[in-house]
Amino acid sequence: LAQLYGPLNMLGYLYRTINQSLVDTERLLKLLSEPTEINDRPNAPDLIVENGEIEFDNVNFSYDGRTTALESVSFKVPKGSSVALVGESGAGKSTILRLLYRFYDLKEGDGRILIDGQDLRDVTQDSLRKAIGVVPQDPVLFNASIGYNIAYGKFGATQEEIVAAAKAAQIHDRILSFPDGYDTKVGERGIRLSGGEKQRVAIARTLLKDPPILLLDEATSALDTSTEKDIQKALQNLVQGRSSLSIAHRLSDGRIVEQGTHSELLALGGNFATMWADQVSSTDEAVSAHRKSAVLTG
Ligand code: ATP
Repeated sequence: LAQLYGPLNMLGYLYRTINQSLVDTERLLKLLSEPTEINDRPNAPDLIVENGEIEFDNVNFSYDGRTTALESVSFKVPKGSSVALVGESGAGKSTILRLLYRFYDLKEGDGRILIDGQDLRDVTQDSLRKAIGVVPQDPVLFNASIGYNIAYGKFGATQEEIVAAAKAAQIHDRILSFPDGYDTKVGERGIRLSGGEKQRVAIARTLLKDPPILLLDEATSALDTSTEKDIQKALQNLVQGRSSLSIAHRLSDGRIVEQGTHSELLALGGNFATMWADQVSSTDEAVSAHRKSAVLTG
């Protein structure tokens, strides 16, 4: 048995390594149960992303076939723009992200989800997931150097590329303050990073991956103002030129009640305006002002 331990341990390590990106995603998408097995159609083509336009077309979804998680949800994320999902706990925000990542397929007659006009059910899962970058609230990092943790975004990344990504993610200076710079180990056997620092490492990794589409889960926990500013700047660099769909926790039951830009939603004087009035802050204003929001509520 002892002889088997080494190889098995190695296999375990490889398995964990291969699964790391899935782990991150599962965390983000807060999977409560094993997703049903999704199979590619025979000879399914790869997704071809030209503009990165996302469309939910009259989507209905239920996890158990009885209760409704999403009802008649339609919205578009135009090329290169950011849409924030705002809603109460249980409103269906994470469900929208899980469906876009194709953890579940829609049933016939329950609408369509399209990327540049291609139905997600018709393309390979592999090509879909390559086109999507995920920044979770609480990213999981490897027990390895901080440089490795960033480089993981791109096979064969050079040191210059790693540094450029860290700079754009507002984490370079912090990394240089560590005893061994980019070689400093993180995790159990190294330095501990704060939640905000881990998120910026995940942003740097995603910048290297360079996907046309992004799924973002904004932090729920309060961050101090300077960390918040650094993260917002890093996110601005990341969303630039990409289509992004983000969960805004702080501000809905599976139905879109209002849609529009931040100022249009405020002008409606409805749910969004009320939630905004309850939670207004200067940082939120800066971030939300340029993006479209969809409010989900019951
Ligand atoms: P939160 O802000 O709390 O994360 P959310 O808006 O992301 O909430 P979802 O996680 O999308 O909400 O949940 C939408 C509905 O679907 C809820 O009623 C929830 O209980 C249900 N649900 C979510 N995940 C599952 C699952 N894996 N199996 C069964 N029901 C689920």
